[in-house]
Amino acid sequence: MVSCGYCKTDIVKYQKVGKGRLLRMYVDRIIESSVDLSKNYGALFCPNCNKQLATRVTLKRKNKEAYILIRSAFNTRKIG
Ligand SMILES: [Zn+2]
Repeated sequence: MVSCGYCKTDIVKYQKVGKGRLLRMYVDRIIESSVDLSKNYGALFCPNCNKQLATRVTLKRKNKEAYILIRSAFNTRKIG
């Protein structure tokens, strides 16, 4: 679960692969989201405090959409 680092609102449920810090999220691995990911194209904002948490990019090599998370703007925790 990725939540806002400012107000602790849960943002997205993400299926993480591999170990280590979460630096980016692939859009196709986002299981559930409290924000409409089709809106705010280009960035991810907290629905509660409107802080920017990530920048949306297209990874050309993999032809995938991903969010590059802004350091210190989010918290992660394991669920389940
Ligand atoms: Zn927030």
